[in-house]
Amino acid sequence: MRESSVIYPGAVIGVMGSGQLGRMLAIAARRLGYRVHTYSSESDTPTGQVADLEVVGAYEDELAVRAFARGLDVLTFEFENIPVASIDWASQECAVRPSGNALHICQQRVREKTFLRDAGLPIAGFRSVSDEFELRSAVAELGVPSVLKTAAFGYDGKGQAKITADSDLASVWQSFKQLSVLEAWVPFERELSVIVARGMDGSMQVFPLCENVHANHILDVTLVPARVPEQVMRDARCIAETVAEAIDFVGVLTVELFLLPDGRLVVNELAPRTHNSGHFSFDACETSQFEQQLRAVCGLPLGSTRLLRPVAMANLLGDVWACGEPNWASALSLPEVKLHLYGKSEPRAGRKMGHLVAFGDTVEEAAKLVREARSRLDSRVDSRVDSRLVGARTLENPLSSERSG
Ligand code: AMP
Repeated sequence: MRESSVIYPGAVIGVMGSGQLGRMLAIAARRLGYRVHTYSSESDTPTGQVADLEVVGAYEDELAVRAFARGLDVLTFEFENIPVASIDWASQECAVRPSGNALHICQQRVREKTFLRDAGLPIAGFRSVSDEFELRSAVAELGVPSVLKTAAFGYDGKGQAKITADSDLASVWQSFKQLSVLEAWVPFERELSVIVARGMDGSMQVFPLCENVHANHILDVTLVPARVPEQVMRDARCIAETVAEAIDFVGVLTVELFLLPDGRLVVNELAPRTHNSGHFSFDACETSQFEQQLRAVCGLPLGSTRLLRPVAMANLLGDVWACGEPNWASALSLPEVKLHLYGKSEPRAGRKMGHLVAFGDTVEEAAKLVREARSRLDSRVDSRVDSRLVGARTLENPLSSERSG
């Protein structure tokens, strides 16, 4: 493995995965004069479209992964469901940041929750469940309501079931039948996320706290700064720094949080990468989460995460195309609105296609503006149904990186 302390502009950054998070990292990297190679099982991807080189291959193909890694100065990843073996092969060929260990912890809920508990961080009560009998005893211990989640490959509420007093546990288990986690119900008031960058020298920069509003279990709108007391912001920052230090993390890490009515925070889950809720930082922070990821994995000093203005981000799912080409001009005629599209050609329902960002003097104003901008997309320029829209919500490949973020 080639380890050098600082990887300078001109070097080649590898990205495992090829979704929108990789795309925005690639844009940040190109701005700083780096070259970008991406590896995933798909072609003409959001990352591939802006990379110098797009390699199509299976994560399980050892020879292909090694060959890809040999051409890099440092490899990073933009989604966490990459087999750890692939990261191990790559680690023998080039520097890999964050480490395979961080990925190993974050890609399986039992390991992640055990790690968080051992680090003394606040989490909901949980039980590991591997058969119907264990599910029954876990429900008896944690009570109802509670949430059953698959241990691996869950995202955006997929692979989850709410357990209530009426649930038929036998049939619930029939639809899971894999290692899962039963979690105590958290009666949260708000959902928050905190993103931290940690450099090779252990220095850290925490982004302003995000307040996240979900729709159908998918992030819908993020408001920054979150409308919470200062103490909650300090606690969130402390949790993020504790996690990053405990994993000896290098790169960008996201902690999803629940805020309880009494002001306490509970950690929901970790993502060892940049995050959908951090997209605002591209336009609204002195250094974006993507540039920060690049700086961290290259051993450069981290930048300031200072928020330039209150901001809100609204996701654009494929549903926005349901009745034809969205009215971009109408949305963009609003001052202080920015549009990001990820270059995906098929606007399937539920698929993350892009996002809007809006600024305001207050975060409420920004949120109002971003919702107004999004609703303007519906004022059709062309009312024909977009033939590219696949109407039914399809189950996405868990090894597809575009699900992340
Ligand atoms: P996750 O995939 O773990 O982020 O969960 C998706 C969503 O389900 C979260 O954003 C919450 O809205 C909800 N959720 C997850 N876990 C719990 C819990 N233990 N109690 C209440 N709601 C939950």
